Parts: sequence; structure tokens; C-alpha cells
Amino acid sequence: MNSGILVINCGSSSLKFALIDTVSKQEVLSGLAEKLGMADSRITFKHGPTPRRSYRQPGEKDTAALAGGTHAAAMDAIIERLREEGLLDSVKAVGHRVVHGGEVFKATAMITDAVLAQIEKCSKLAPLHNPANLLGIRTAMQQFGDLPQVAVFDTSFHQTMPEHAYLYALPMSLYRDHGVRRYGFHGTSYRYITSKAAELLGKPLEETAFVCAHLGNGASATAIKGGVSVDTTMGLTPLEGSVMGTRSGDIDPGIIGYLASELNLDIAGVMDILNKKSGLLGVSELSSDCRELQEAAAAGNHAATLALDIFSYRLAKHIAALTVGLGRLDALLLTGGIGENSAYVRANVINRLGFLGLTLDEAANQECTRGKTGRITVEGSVPALVISTDEEMMIAMDTAKLAGLID
Ligand code: ADP
Repeated sequence: MNSGILVINCGSSSLKFALIDTVSKQEVLSGLAEKLGMADSRITFKHGPTPRRSYRQPGEKDTAALAGGTHAAAMDAIIERLREEGLLDSVKAVGHRVVHGGEVFKATAMITDAVLAQIEKCSKLAPLHNPANLLGIRTAMQQFGDLPQVAVFDTSFHQTMPEHAYLYALPMSLYRDHGVRRYGFHGTSYRYITSKAAELLGKPLEETAFVCAHLGNGASATAIKGGVSVDTTMGLTPLEGSVMGTRSGDIDPGIIGYLASELNLDIAGVMDILNKKSGLLGVSELSSDCRELQEAAAAGNHAATLALDIFSYRLAKHIAALTVGLGRLDALLLTGGIGENSAYVRANVINRLGFLGLTLDEAANQECTRGKTGRITVEGSVPALVISTDEEMMIAMDTAKLAGLID
């Protein structure tokens, strides 16, 4: 292999990576360093379907304690493993996931000092994410200083939204002076699944009108016309829109002041409730995890059923609302851990959308689980497609293109 892209997705306490061969489009080696900064930090490696070394099994996984527990120690361990596997020289460029690119980054960018400074400026819009992404970039630059480094932004895909979709009805000075507008997230995933869907439906992307929902621990939905985002549910931050694992999604903003006064909380205290104690977890008082809630619901737990109903009803409402930006609906696309696996939630959403021309195929819905891409609506219905997303592959292909490694 001579065309590897190392993809880095760096969080404050984790570092996910994947080495992708852009010719075979296979993940050769991937992994996750977790609990960085803590005493029990560890790193897991997973080998791809065709490992380099004969003593490795396809898909083999191993986990080890990470001495030092820093981001730099994680990068060292990754480099060491790449060397051991004879893969280090195949890395030709490094692609980084960056959450917030503000209005500056309308596309993937080659990282320069000026780009780093702009990403830093966007940090105030994503204080939990961008500083960690920057840390990942700086660590990789120290280790792979000679290679091109590329930033792929979650927000840039949504820069095509029209003004009437991205502006809040707030004083315009807040937009002009402070960048208060809707940015949207999950853009890399949306780009990947829309091009897959166009392929599956045998239609040029430019002629498609999709509503897409990325449903993981964070959840959003987006209207995509002709391959470009025209509206999305997430806003200035990833708190707006759908109900999520621990995030509330849309609420009456009046609740913020009310809670601050009733509970004697400062803004950070209220935001903590909205970001970390709400959503599926808040309603169920049990778990933020969809699978666990499905099990509890099946065992008769009312709060778990209610949490999943609120999640599904709200999402169905958003999907219907997003069709306004499209004028028609060619297909509904579902992805992310919940979208790809939860037949329960998919049924709960699609069964509310008959008026948009969607009719669920119960058997196909039950059969479609992780990794399987497929149609879960009956013949004659507006199609609902489950598509397994691959943000790492998208980042790798973007990086390879920008680095001039592929056309
Ligand atoms: P993240 O946004 O952190 O990347 P994922 O995309 O992995 O998260 O999605 C995690 C969610 O997917 C969790 O709520 C999990 O319960 C749900 N999920 C994963 N597998 C299943 C399954 N088989 N059935 C129902 N939900 C599932």
C-alpha cells in the first residue's frame, strides 16, 4: 500500500484514528485512545480485513494501557504500531476532523499557520471541541511534520444554507458582531450518505431532494437538495434540534431563565442540565443509550417507552418541517448508531410520516442492522434508506484530493 491517509478525530479525552488506503478504500488499521489525561488511559487497535502481518487475524483487536496518558503518548503509540506493521511509510497525508469552521471554512482546507489561527478563532463557537481538535493537529504536526495536514469541518457542508434558514430572528447585530447564526453539524456524514444514496437510487446527485437524519449520541436532520444543504436542525451549537442521548434539543428559551431563578443556578449550571442531563437520559431517568432503553421498554418500563416516543415524534416533526426547504421528498436517509440499527425508532418515526408518502416495510426494517445498507419502505412508497455512514472514509478521500494524491 502506498496511498495511506491517517485520519485523526481528536476529542478532549479521546483520540480516534484510522489508516485508510484510498485506492482499495479499505480501513487498514484503526483505533481509539480513551480516558486521556486519566490514570487508566488505554489504547485499542483494530486491524482491517487484510492485515499486513501473517500473524494477525482480519479484524483482530487488542487493547493496552497507555503509559503517560497524554495525546502525544497516544500519537506515539499509533506511530509505533504503524512502524511495527510496516505501514508507517505508506502514510502520505493526515486528515483531521474539526468540528467548527464558522463562516470562514466553506470547504476542506490544507492546514497552514493562517488556517490554524482561524480554527483557533472558531474555538469560542465550540469550546468543548475545537481546542481538542487543535491539540490533535499540533500533535500530528510534531510527528508528521513533512506530510500535508488537512482539516475537514463538520460545519462547512451547511454553508450553502440560505439566509432565511440560517439566521435566527434575533437582533442582526448579534449575527454581524458575534456570529450568532445556525451553522449545523454532522456535515461529513451527510456528504457521504447523500452520494451513496444517489448511487443506490441511480440518480445524479444534482437532481435529488433528500431529508437525512444522523442519529447517534448526537442527533440531527438536514434537508439536502441537489447535494447541498438547504436547512438543518442543529444551530449555533449542537444543542439545537432533535432530542439526543443527553441533550434536550429544542426547548422554550424561557426555560433557561426560569431554571436559573427556580434552582438558583448560573448559566453554566443550566447549560449542564441541557447538555448532559436531558434528552433520552433525562426523560427515562435510566439511560442515554437507545439500545438499553429499547430493552427496558420491552420489559414494560413506561419512562423508557416515553423517552423513545418523544425522540421519535420530535424527529418525525423535524423531518416533515425540513421538506419545506426541499419542496418535495425523493427519499429519507437514516444513519448513525440509532439510524443504522434501531428498527424500533425507525418504525416509530416512519409510521408517523405516511402523509409524506412513506410506508414502512416491517420485514426489511427488522433485517437492516449495522453495516447493512438497504431500503426499509415498501414498493411504491417514497424510499427510506438506511445507509451506514463512514466519516473517516470521507475525511480520507477529501485529504487525498487536497493533497493531490487522487483526482
Ligand atoms: P456517536 O454519536 O457517539 O458516534 P453512535 O453513532 O455510535 O454514537 O450511536 C450510538 C447510539 O446508537 C446509542 O444510543 C446506541 O444505543 C445506539 N445503538 C447502537 N446499536 C444499536 C442497536 N443494535 N439497537 C438500537 N440502538 C443501537
